[in-house]
Amino acid sequence: MTACIVWFRQDLRLTDNPALLEASRSGLPIIPVFILDDENAAEWKHGGASRWWLHHSLAALDASLKNTLVVRKGRAEEILPKLIKEFDVKSVYWNRCYEPWRIKRDKAIKERLTESGILAESANASLLWEPWQVHKEDKTPYKVFTPYFRRGCRNAGEPPHPSKKPAKLNLQKREESFALTSLKLLPQKPFPRWDKKMEEYWTIGEAGAQARLSEFLDENLKGYKEGRNYPVRPNISRLSPYLHFGEISPRQVWHDSESHALVHKYETDLDTFHSELGWREFSHSLLYHFPWLPEQPLQERFKAFPWADNDEYLLSWQRGQTGYPIVDAGMRELWETGYMHNRVRMIVGSFLVKHLRLHWHHGEKWFWDCLVDADLANNSASWQWIAGCGADAAPYFRVFNPVTQGEKFDAAGTYVRRWCPELSKLPDSLVHKPWEAPPLILKEAGITLGKNYPKPIVDHKAAREAALAAFKATKTGNDAETAEDDE
Ligand code: FAD
Repeated sequence: MTACIVWFRQDLRLTDNPALLEASRSGLPIIPVFILDDENAAEWKHGGASRWWLHHSLAALDASLKNTLVVRKGRAEEILPKLIKEFDVKSVYWNRCYEPWRIKRDKAIKERLTESGILAESANASLLWEPWQVHKEDKTPYKVFTPYFRRGCRNAGEPPHPSKKPAKLNLQKREESFALTSLKLLPQKPFPRWDKKMEEYWTIGEAGAQARLSEFLDENLKGYKEGRNYPVRPNISRLSPYLHFGEISPRQVWHDSESHALVHKYETDLDTFHSELGWREFSHSLLYHFPWLPEQPLQERFKAFPWADNDEYLLSWQRGQTGYPIVDAGMRELWETGYMHNRVRMIVGSFLVKHLRLHWHHGEKWFWDCLVDADLANNSASWQWIAGCGADAAPYFRVFNPVTQGEKFDAAGTYVRRWCPELSKLPDSLVHKPWEAPPLILKEAGITLGKNYPKPIVDHKAAREAALAAFKATKTGNDAETAEDDE
């Protein structure tokens, strides 16, 4: 009996999944397939934390699909034809992805399938607007966020409303055992099982995503505009990994938040939340139009930037041992949970590229490996933004001051105390600068700097000046002259 394939990728859900809906309309039995294609992904194959997430997400998807998901590992262009032959498949449906390696691979697959008489259909499930839908009047892509979002996206029209889960799914029974463990997505060494600690922070899968969205809308969208800046306030959605893996549709997030905010009258919070979803769209548009975004600075002059080379600094940063409490807290939150608050991502990112003057590629790679929401578009666009070399980037002379940022956005030191418990007994006034504490206070707090908490690995003032001097070497006549701390 003939069948069709739904090729799941970054759309691990049943609701608002156009490929699945189209397949269900075909009337043919559906074989749901997932292929782990590390070979085509090459250096951008999933990092450790994402692999952990993906394992659990596939398990959840298989359960929703009544244990019919077929998983394979290898090159998709070799695996799909084998499955097509084995199951007498007439059509293949998938939702589009936007990483350059996937676009190249998927185009070639579509061409080959079409040539051999197989219907190959793709749709949009991951973005509010396709990257080619939003452009300037002269048809070139936007490079600056505000006109992209306020003019370009508006001109492209309201994002489509999400579709429902197919009413009936004719899923083909799986004749083999579920090969999820053969993908080896979980850490293979029994010790240390770093993934175990992450389990308590997340409920992975479509049901977890829906619950997360409901909780955010009911309790935390109100106050988002202001609250999203403070790492201990609950006003963030934490939807990023679910959006990355497609366990929830951005169209649903957009429209549900809109209906909710209009009823409860918090339009300004909604506007800010929508614009963050807009940054996600903008990053994808940049990656689509400038596929070298993960590797090359978008501003040419940064190609010659004199980055430092210092493995010790990098290790201290990765381990949360820089001696700057807000930086260390962020890096430890990342290691423990697979997530870091956006404000703190900006602080640790700025510290890496400006205070330590290490190449943004180091940060990009570390985040790629450690984040459960690691996303090629968002991650590379954000690192370019932080380094000042992106399309619409923070100017190079804005240096985040880790002390004043901490004092402003974590005034009571709650975030720092949570992730750096060795500092918990310091008074609020010193928790972001323990090196200024008098010896008696340090003693009472049980801290010996250099022993149970590091001394700052660089001096803020000197590091900032060195960064500004180095960045000045890349300067063009258009930059403003004044250096500033980002308070
Ligand atoms: P919310 O504030 O609730 O925002 C809702 C959604 O909007 C997010 O889930 C996310 O999909 C999107 N979003 C929010 N802010 C941004 C942004 N600045 N750029 C793009 N999309 C955004 N985000 C990732 O999803 N993956 C990454 O790999 C990633 N790497 C980053 C690296 C650096 C150096 C920085 C500064 C930011 C990075 N971000 C990344 C963006 C942002 O930090 C996260 O999307 C956000 O913190 C996720 O938390 P949330 O879901 O609670 O966000």
